[in-house]
Amino acid sequence: MRIGHGYDVHRLVSDRPLVLGGVTVPSQMGLLGHSDADVLVHAVMDALLGAAGLGDIGRHFPDQDPSYLGADSLKLLDHVMVLLRQNGWRVGNVDATILAQRPKLAPYLDQMRDNLAVRMGVEPERVNVKATTEEGLGFTGAGEGIAAHAVCLLEQRTTV
Ligand code: MG
Repeated sequence: MRIGHGYDVHRLVSDRPLVLGGVTVPSQMGLLGHSDADVLVHAVMDALLGAAGLGDIGRHFPDQDPSYLGADSLKLLDHVMVLLRQNGWRVGNVDATILAQRPKLAPYLDQMRDNLAVRMGVEPERVNVKATTEEGLGFTGAGEGIAAHAVCLLEQRTTV
């Protein structure tokens, strides 16, 4: 088994949709980024790549590459899963936390979990998505951005 950790931050701006875990969350502000800026999926991908010893998403999906402009991050996750399978890994579990002052994310967390589970090819019980505020402190508390942490466990596949 191998453990991995991922962390990501994106800035909140007024003229973008807010996409988290593949769910477009109703919000007056959205995350700025080269892709769809899905900070949760980015943290999860970095955890997966980290556990597999395959670097990070900046290496696999460079910001300068126009083919990733506006990219659906769940499609990037599909690519990460191909890399994991090629290297003999499957997902044991993923646990993630979104740090956001607003909007309230609780109604959307189950859909985010389901989206991640489907794309990673595991039962929903192996995926957990949480959200918390930081009590008004720091850049997430000020509503300047949203951050996400993720940890994962990868297991060596016994049959490929
Ligand atoms: Mg990112």
